[in-house]
Amino acid sequence: MAVPAALIQSLQTATGFQKEAFEAVHESGEQIVSIRLNPSKPFNLTHLPLADKVGWSEYGRYLTERPFFTFDPFLHAGAYYVQEASSMFLWQAIQQLVPEKYGKKVLDLCAAPGGKSTLLSSYFNEGLVVANEVIKNRANILVENCSKWGDGHLLVTNNDPSHFQSLPGYFDVLMIDAPCSGSGLFRKDPAAVDEWSEANVSLCSQRQQRILADALPCLAENGILIYSTCSYSQEEDEVICDWLLDEMEMESQSLQIDKSWGIVETTSPAKHAVGYRFYPDQVKGEGFFIACFRKKRNEFEVKSKMKGLHFTSKLQIQQLQSAIKLPENLSYFDQNDTIRAIETTWLTDLSILASHLYIKKAGIEIATMKGKDIIPSHELALSGWFKGGFPTVDLDLNNALSYLKRKEFSAEGQKGWNLMCFGGLPIGWAKLLPNRINNYYPAEWRILKE
Ligand code: SAM
Repeated sequence: MAVPAALIQSLQTATGFQKEAFEAVHESGEQIVSIRLNPSKPFNLTHLPLADKVGWSEYGRYLTERPFFTFDPFLHAGAYYVQEASSMFLWQAIQQLVPEKYGKKVLDLCAAPGGKSTLLSSYFNEGLVVANEVIKNRANILVENCSKWGDGHLLVTNNDPSHFQSLPGYFDVLMIDAPCSGSGLFRKDPAAVDEWSEANVSLCSQRQQRILADALPCLAENGILIYSTCSYSQEEDEVICDWLLDEMEMESQSLQIDKSWGIVETTSPAKHAVGYRFYPDQVKGEGFFIACFRKKRNEFEVKSKMKGLHFTSKLQIQQLQSAIKLPENLSYFDQNDTIRAIETTWLTDLSILASHLYIKKAGIEIATMKGKDIIPSHELALSGWFKGGFPTVDLDLNNALSYLKRKEFSAEGQKGWNLMCFGGLPIGWAKLLPNRINNYYPAEWRILKE
């Protein structure tokens, strides 16, 4: 695959660019496969061709080849996320810049399909992570991936960046993995070459400034901004960093980089902001750029406008708790016909966020109550909050795949609700009746491939 000549030309002045090696790695067609493990679901994944750890990311692992991920029930159970290795450098950045992670409020502004959000959720495991996606149908895949990841402190919203201005100074960490011209993914997705143009690089650069300007007010004083793209173009990378220092009163933050990683440190031409370039001929990963900043300027405190949540009645909570064993530190609220729960520590924040944003997923959906009947929710199955109440059934691979395809399958269980598991890891609910099994795997998430 040939990289556009105009891109090569524009990169001649980019720090660390090595033309021959860069072109050769694109022509080689070599593919690097990596996954990131879910620390909340520590399962034995020896069935995968696991190789070395990704040097800069605690839970990142390279694979020796690309398995057929769709047919691995562990993927659907949220035991791991298929993520390009360079992107996992985010772990390194937050580990160095936000070592005190307890109680932090984090916004991932451009979040779909959820690679960085699930990483942030694992790191800030005692914080609140808001994964936002402006495009409605992309917000659905974000909900799916976040639900599978299973963390109750990972919320999903569907808002325009400007909507976050109503939450001034609210977040401690703001991640902006901006929409970009995508040159960093040429090796993985050669079709992206056809969509690349210099005009699009300029358009992306302007859009990146707009997104940043819209969202920055919601970052607290001293809060950390992490800006990244999968573009090599300086207009989308170093030039944006200059603008952030020049016009947005941000302060550049540098990171400790292990030389063996092959990551190139770069500085912006005017203000010398530090950024990090990932070239696929020098790192074991795809093209990527990341730069970190601290916000100097003070912002007004967020006006604590709070939307009254509709709390679940005591009677219903009692009914629920007599059927399902759940953690003790939860607060319950109703949404449409369902009962959801969030850790009580985050209840006030949820009310604040709900009064300003369109929330697609808050906490964990626990169940639907139909009179005295309790229908356990899929999010509950995947959350780790289910501590008992219904029996569990471990399926073999064939039955697990039939279950995930929402087809007929067989399971030896007790009558009524059963938690379907694979390799000990929950994958969803089924109701066992005397002469059939009702499969409750969400229709929209079922495996379609045969
Ligand atoms: N962070 C994601 C991950 O790691 O999985 C990838 C994000 S992708 C690079 C950029 C995202 O920005 C896309 O989901 C895209 O829909 C969204 N986006 C596009 N235009 C946008 C805009 N004007 N404002 C905010 N987000 C936008």
